[in-house]
Amino acid sequence: MKTLAQAAAALAAGQTSSAALTAACLERAKADPFGAFLTLDEPGALASAQASDARRREGRAVGPLDGVPLSLKDNILTEGVVTTAGSRMLEGFRPPYDATVTARLKAAGAVLLGKTNLDEFGMGSSTENSAFQKTKNPLDPTRTPGGSSGGSAASVAARLCFGSLGTDTGGSIRQPAAFTGLVGLKPSWGRVSRFGVVAYASSLDQVGPLAHTVEDAATLLSAIEGLDPADATSSTAPKTDLSMLRSGVRGLRVGLPKEFFVDGMDPEVAASVRAAAATLVSLGASVEEVSLPHTRYAMATYYVLAPCEASSNLGRYDGVRFGHRTTDPRSLKALYENSRAEGFGPEVKRRIMLGTFALSAGYADAYYRKAQQVRALIRRDYEQVFQRVDVVLSATSPVLPWRLGEKLDDPLAMYLMDVLTLPCNLAGLPGLSLPCGRASNGLPIGAQLLGRPFDEGTVLKTAYALEAALGLQFAPTGGV
Ligand code: GLN
Repeated sequence: MKTLAQAAAALAAGQTSSAALTAACLERAKADPFGAFLTLDEPGALASAQASDARRREGRAVGPLDGVPLSLKDNILTEGVVTTAGSRMLEGFRPPYDATVTARLKAAGAVLLGKTNLDEFGMGSSTENSAFQKTKNPLDPTRTPGGSSGGSAASVAARLCFGSLGTDTGGSIRQPAAFTGLVGLKPSWGRVSRFGVVAYASSLDQVGPLAHTVEDAATLLSAIEGLDPADATSSTAPKTDLSMLRSGVRGLRVGLPKEFFVDGMDPEVAASVRAAAATLVSLGASVEEVSLPHTRYAMATYYVLAPCEASSNLGRYDGVRFGHRTTDPRSLKALYENSRAEGFGPEVKRRIMLGTFALSAGYADAYYRKAQQVRALIRRDYEQVFQRVDVVLSATSPVLPWRLGEKLDDPLAMYLMDVLTLPCNLAGLPGLSLPCGRASNGLPIGAQLLGRPFDEGTVLKTAYALEAALGLQFAPTGGV
């Protein structure tokens, strides 16, 4: 059994119990050689599995997630279960409440196995910036699973659970999905509540699913999406219409942006995306080349705005209210300085300094405000393109998963890898990655589909059709 739908069907048919599924997942997770989890909540998971089995016996199962073991990225708050955001700053922190997405999964009956590894505060593209451990790609353990939701991706790809929630500020759901042969969805900004999600860059952050199939991702989205009174930026838009999932792509207009075939792109990746476009044509869609001229400024824009917002959001970690506190400071200033110096890792410090600089008097106009203006132009590119096409197709990452350690000493090289995923966040669009090919070395290639704001339905149905036509399967190597 691999997919969430299969687990749900087996539970519904009485072929297995949630307790049995959960025990099997926990056993695999405890022997996991890929380092997917930071924390396993064995007692909590077993208790919710038993509660689910009891509901089912009484005919009160609440839906497709009831009794299904899932994982959560460790920047999503879980009441009483340690949540670190991959940072020493929050080591041992037990949140006093659940994030809205956590509460919604619990209400849907899901079994939450534990918390998955990530780049500290979501800052990175390989999960190597975690303060605690490195996560390996289950499809090739010498390589990165991507990031920052690399632990979530590895937990699903290695079949330690049936789905996971990650967060995506600039690609952190889609790129790990691409690197591990999964489907990953970043919803439209505002689609999913951010209440109780450790903030990185609030105008870009969204929670979304990682799963084996498009259908599984849609099921998870449906459980977590929708207005939340606790998050004033959550949208009143109607929920995603999942009845259109199987409606096909006949007549669909697909745009292939020429700017997304970037210099330095792996030729196998480019060829695979073009082949996916041809597949969509064979299914009845039309494909045309489109232009998103401001794409070349997305990198610079994102890496000004995200650090600015991060520097503001991370100001709350002052060693006073919660999180790491230095011992024996000699002054209040030393309390702040030493707590932060000890609690934050090097990439987080770099981002805080970049953001603080770009927001400081005299520079805010040149950097922060300019980046906001360019962001508006990027958004306008998409508004114009979406008058002509219904979805935009590209690669998710310009390259295949790189080797662990390969880019660690060169932050800029790592930032450049995000070039294809960042515009989606800057424009607030829904974006999905799904496997579209297998490279000659066996690694997966991810295709990205972008849609109009709050048109997850069209993105999902396109992905569903492509997935069915391509029929790709990836399996973890060795280990569990
Ligand atoms: N790699 C990007 C960054 O480091 C995006 C990370 C994310 O989406 N959380 O900011």
